Amino acid sequence: MKFSNTYSQLDGAFYQRISPEQVSRPQLLLWNDELAGWLQLTEEFCRDRALLAQYFSGNRLPDGADPIALAYAGHQFGSFNPQLGDGRAHLLGEVLSGNGQRYDIQLKGSGQTLFSRQGDGKCALGPAVREYIMSEAMFALGVPTSRCLAVVATGEPVFRETAKPGAVVTRVAASHIRVGTFEYFAARGDLGSLKTLADFTISRHFPDIAGNPELDNEEKILHLLQAVINKQISLIVSWLRVGFIHGVMNTDNTAISGETIDFGPCAMMGIYHPGTVFSSIDTRGRYAFGNQAAIGQWNMARLAEALLPLIDAVPEKAVARAEPLIRQFSRDFDLAYRQMLANKLGMATADEQSTALANGLLTQMQEQELDYTQTFARLTLSLKDAGLTQQLGQELGPWYDSWRTLLADNAITPARAKSLMAQNNPQVIPRNHHVEAILQDYEQNGGSDSINDFLTVLRSPYRLLPQTEKFQDLPADGDRHYRTFCGT
Ligand code: AMP
Ligand code: MG
Ligand code: MG
Repeated sequence: MKFSNTYSQLDGAFYQRISPEQVSRPQLLLWNDELAGWLQLTEEFCRDRALLAQYFSGNRLPDGADPIALAYAGHQFGSFNPQLGDGRAHLLGEVLSGNGQRYDIQLKGSGQTLFSRQGDGKCALGPAVREYIMSEAMFALGVPTSRCLAVVATGEPVFRETAKPGAVVTRVAASHIRVGTFEYFAARGDLGSLKTLADFTISRHFPDIAGNPELDNEEKILHLLQAVINKQISLIVSWLRVGFIHGVMNTDNTAISGETIDFGPCAMMGIYHPGTVFSSIDTRGRYAFGNQAAIGQWNMARLAEALLPLIDAVPEKAVARAEPLIRQFSRDFDLAYRQMLANKLGMATADEQSTALANGLLTQMQEQELDYTQTFARLTLSLKDAGLTQQLGQELGPWYDSWRTLLADNAITPARAKSLMAQNNPQVIPRNHHVEAILQDYEQNGGSDSINDFLTVLRSPYRLLPQTEKFQDLPADGDRHYRTFCGT
């Protein structure tokens, strides 16, 4: 493992330098070969599973690791907490992929740090496996996301409502810089560190801005803000495309890289309804499926606020420059969202008609309580299946004919529509009931027979494999009683 650490070279205000805790009986449960290859880990390094268990439990540090716990703040459910930080995670360091991209290697559940507050610094096995499955699924769906390299059982219990088996999950992300990292320094009035962080972020994630000689320092900050906004818009649009509900879009869980991070209470929407919420603590539906765009904009406003001192020393002037970018979020989001819906219906570009048609379908799905993924998947297949065409014509009534007519009017052949739709409408998603069944197997028996089939299927979500059908079924109760939990 060849580390090339940069964050740990920043000054001590950014982190606590601290090693992971030791665990008694580390056992490697999940290992992501494909990701290991992408990160250029050598075959020799990957060969010995017992040694991997030592490394990815935190018992033994790979050469070149420089573990730190990162400082950050954040707005949680709308309220500001000036000090959060990695309370149960250790950033081991950074490695370069084959194409020169830099990735953080982070252990989670690896013990207490300065930022643990009341927490035990641990992670239960269920949530660790959940993060592995969900992030692999999201990656294959084409959604920007952090990924998991390993899940190691610690052999030790963690105490939640009851004792549960403990685990350490290794997360790989383009970085762990969050909106909350900027808020941390802004709230302390530490403008030196804020500037350092902005420069670091620009050179790591947006080298085009760093290298643009036309931009002065203040303009670079505005470009940074715009670039982060653009990435959030693409991210949330792709969540909506596949029916993902993040569940806890706090600013400390909003990565500047535009990747999905923190899968705690996330879930997939089954029956289409914009008000869908599964998180047990989200009692007001702040992070409901259909509210995610508005929250994305709200989070970007918090980033803008944190950046204000770097935009202009006079607050009113800084606000005047940043505010239009935040206002523009809604319009840009709307365009991208309508484009995504047009693609899901086989049209390459959105127009008034495609948007009206898409909205009509969504309304009907909501009224008829239809499954979001299955409906689009069946529409896709119906383009080459007369039986399915007839069925959907009955189920969706005049809507179905008006869709086919609109395609024909735009000279879009069924074959062309189908090929675009097949790339935008997954045939299979990580259904909540399948994910939960596997987590239960892990918690009760330390493993699951079906996880390999499930991962194989989730890794090809746009294709029908022989095993796919096994995971396409809808939950018996329509997920009406399904609940997810944070911070476990
Ligand atoms: P999360 O809800 O996982 O995004 O975590 C929010 C904050 O709580 C972060 O600062 C975490 O590091 C911290 N945290 C969550 N769970 C634990 C835990 N078991 N021990 C210590 N800190 C935790
Ligand atoms: Mg978090
Ligand atoms: Mg979390």
